[in-house]
Order: sequence, then C-alpha cells, then structure tokens
Amino acid sequence: MMRFFGYLRVALFTTVNIVANGVTLGRYVWLEGRVKGGVFTNWARRFRYGPRKFVKPTTEQVIVELIKNVRRVRVFGSGHSFNAGVVSQEILVSLDDYSGLIWKDPDKRQIAVKGGTRVRDVIALLLDEGLAFSALPSHDAQSIAGILSTDVHGTGREWGFVSESVVRLKLIDGNGEVHECGPSDDLFEAAIGGIGAVGVISEVVIQGVERFNAEQKVQTKTLASVEKDLDRLLQRNDHLSLYLFPFADECRVNTWNRTDKKQSPLGDLREFVRTSVDALGAAWIGNLLAYTGLLRTVSSLVYGVEHGSHLILESNKAFNRTIYHLHQELEFTVPFEDTFEVSRRFIGLYEEMYHLGLPYAIFEVRFTPKQERTLIGAGRDRRSTWIDLVCNDSHGFEKYYAAAEDLVKEIEARPHLGKFCETFDQEYLARIHQDTFTEFLNLAERHDPESKFANDFTSRLFGRGTIRTSEAGSQP
Ligand SMILES: Cc1cc2nc3c(=O)[nH]c(=O)nc-3n(C[C@H](O)[C@H](O)[C@H](O)COP(=O)(O)OP(=O)(O)OC[C@H]3O[C@@H](n4cnc5c(N)ncnc54)[C@H](O)[C@@H]3O)c2cc1C
Repeated sequence: MMRFFGYLRVALFTTVNIVANGVTLGRYVWLEGRVKGGVFTNWARRFRYGPRKFVKPTTEQVIVELIKNVRRVRVFGSGHSFNAGVVSQEILVSLDDYSGLIWKDPDKRQIAVKGGTRVRDVIALLLDEGLAFSALPSHDAQSIAGILSTDVHGTGREWGFVSESVVRLKLIDGNGEVHECGPSDDLFEAAIGGIGAVGVISEVVIQGVERFNAEQKVQTKTLASVEKDLDRLLQRNDHLSLYLFPFADECRVNTWNRTDKKQSPLGDLREFVRTSVDALGAAWIGNLLAYTGLLRTVSSLVYGVEHGSHLILESNKAFNRTIYHLHQELEFTVPFEDTFEVSRRFIGLYEEMYHLGLPYAIFEVRFTPKQERTLIGAGRDRRSTWIDLVCNDSHGFEKYYAAAEDLVKEIEARPHLGKFCETFDQEYLARIHQDTFTEFLNLAERHDPESKFANDFTSRLFGRGTIRTSEAGSQP
C-alpha cells in the first residue's frame, strides 16, 4: 500500500509540475521551496513546518538589524537542497525580496546581484548585457546565494563550480558585521559550501563571458567502452556526464561543447519535450517496473534502445534544464581514479537490496577539476568524480540511502552538503577534511560566536550551537 501511494505521489507531482510549467510558458515551477500560509515546504515537500517567525527583508540594514537581535536564524533560497539545512528553530528568512541587479560594469563583463536572486534571473540579467555564465550545473531555479552556500557543481574537464564565476561576495556575519571578500580570503572559502555557518551571503559579483551557443548531445554506449575511453571523452568534450543504470551494461553519455553553429530550430521546445518525456518515463514507467520487480529483467532492454538527442541551444538552455521529476539525491565525491570501482559498488548495493522493494533509481556521474575556493566543499583540493544516487522520492529510498551512507563512510567519500545527509556528523567531516575543517570551525566561531546560524542539522555536522528542546519552535 505504501508503495502504491508513493508511486502515485511521484507520478502525479511530476505530471502537475510539467503541466504547470508548460501552460505558464516556463514562468511557474510548482515544485519549489516557499512559505505559504505561514508554512514552509521545500521543493520536494519532505520538509514542512511552521517557523516561529518568517521574515523577507528588503534592505541590507534590515538583515543586519535582524541578525543583531535574534538568537537563531536560518535563510533559505528556493529550498532545492535535500536536507534540513533549511529548517529554522526560530526565525526563517527568505531573500526573495532582496534580489535583482545592484550594478553592472559592461567593460569588465561583471554584474552584481543581491543574494536572493534566482539563477534563472541572473542568467537573464547577463543575457541583457550579451553575457553568460562560462558554464552551469543542471538547474536554474535556485538562488545564487543558496548555490554558493552548498558549493554547487556542474561537470567538466576544466570547469566545475558556479563559485568559479564569482569575483566578490558580501557576507553579513553573526556579529551583524558586513564583510566584502574575494576568492583569496579565508572567509570567502568558508562561505562557499559552508551552508550559512559564517554568515548570510547578501551580494554576489559575477564574472560573465560573451554569450555563446552550446552543442548538447546524448548518446548510448556500453559501460565497458566508456570506462576504456573516459580520458579521451573528457579530453574531447568541454563538459561530460554519465548516467549509469542498475541491471544494465549500457550507459548514457551526455556532452556539451561550445560552438559557433546556429541554434537548432525550435530547440527550446524540443528540449522541453525531451526533458518532460524523460521525467514522465522515470515517474510513471520507471517506478512501475521497479516496484513490480520487472526492472531486473527489462533494464538492459530499455536502456539498450538507442536514445539520442542532438541540439544546439543558447548555453544556459543547454546546461540547465528544468528538472520536473520528484526525486531525492544523495551525492558524494571520490578521487577521479576511483570512478568506476566506486560507481559499481553503489549500483551493486542497489541491486542487492532491490528485492526489498526499492524505487526506480539512476546513477549520475560527473567530473570536476580541483576546487580551491572552499574549505569543506566535497570537491575541495583534488580532481573529483561526483556520484549522485538519484532515487524516485517514494517508498524504499530511505532504506537504500541508509545503507549507502554507511558505504560512503566506509570508503571515506566526501558528501555534498546540499543533498541527502542523514547520518554524517562532525567526527566524520573532521576525518575527511582534516585541517581545513578545523580552519572552517575557527572561522565559524569567530564570525558567529553565539551560534545564531545553527540549527539541529548544522549542529550535528559542525558540533556548534546544540539546541535545547525548550528553545525550539514548531518542528517539521
Ligand atoms: C532539481 C535539482 C537539481 C539540482 N542540480 C544540482 C547540480 O547540478 N549540482 C549541484 O551541486 N547541486 C544540485 N542540486 C542541489 C541544490 O540545488 C543546491 O544544493 C542548492 O543549495 C539549492 O539552492 P537553494 O537556493 O534552493 O538553497 P536552499 O535549499 O534554500 O538552501 C541551501 C542551504 O544554503 C543555506 N542558504 C541559503 N541561502 C543562503 C544565504 N543567502 N546565505 C547563507 N546561507 C544560505 C540554507 O540555509 C541551506 O542550508 C539540485 C537540486 C535539485 C532539486
């Protein structure tokens, strides 16, 4: 019965999300984090609670005063993270009314935006100036500050992180002091991927590049051939990601390359149809096959069918797609050399546990160069492979994720703190990040001595500001 309701929930939510986005010509995304009627829900509607107080400041001064006068505060962007980082024990802040352009400098190709600006709006502001991000991750609904606070990554041989396009940040710390910092400052490094522990990111200066088209291709290959050819594939393509599947030897290879060619006719519409069909397939058919036990038998048949797509789009449309599909993600990094060995272990774990009634899942594999702009981001300081366990958000995914988190710990992989994170704690983060974690904690102590930005989730991860039950507001 639980499986049936979970199946229907994923299928219906995904369908409503696509229809709502389609009929509003892309203007409205139903599955987004928001506060309505005093109740916060994150994008996947797993975190739902009434904060004691909800505030939408409109000026920097209001944010400063608020921080000076509170005991506990958390900020959210568009609630697109997969954990309780967005749960506030006291005051919840949205920067939705603190968003938009602050200034532009066309000669330097830079724009400054307020922290609450959604990535899709930053893209539009850049396009107005004939500019673009040099590359982007897969989605554009998030706020620019939320993206930086979780060190959001994309994929590429030489490009990996949105933070690479950031020239300067403004941050309001727990003392109510406003700091301007750049990539060489330790405060900047603590803010990137620091999930708000050192302050509220209130302004961001973005370095644009001249706008360009990107050629996006999807091809099906065998996993063995991709494994043999990975270095060459990464050399030949600016950006590359893989989809791996349980019970199948096939692999989907996604590539994006800068091009001078003209955009494909009706490219945006064709991309909308493609992403909608994929989302509906995963929600209605993928989950049906998984729950009826048929996935094991038909997986190779389904993924063996040549599934190709080839479009030339404005770069942001190629990198970003609206992801309609109601799902969960647990993601981590391992050293590049371990890509296939580790991917196989997590796919093997899914296959072993499949008989327990797991939902449909795919495994997205992405690549980043060494990230030098963060202290505790998962891509820190080494060439990394990101393995993302993408499960339909329905009955059974928690069981798989619990076992997967044990395996993450066993192999000492580094978790993405914007994704599902139920059991990682201070001890584990100290083990995997060592000196940079200590440096991060020292900065958090200096810039938030009263742990105003702590909640239960960050207390578990950073060991700071444990909250007594009597202090807590209404819980999710
Ligand atoms: C469909 C989908 C696709 C995704 N694709 C990718 C991807 O390609 N790559 C990737 O790495 N991740 C990806 N993610 C993960 C996710 O987008 C990010 O981790 C990001 O945090 C979400 O941004 P947000 O504005 O929604 O932040 P929220 O979820 O609202 O907040 C995230 C965290 O940042 C803190 N925070 C928010 N605003 C501020 C601020 N102004 N100052 C300080 N702290 C703040 C919050 O308290 C919270 O802890 C994806 C998620 C979804 C749902």
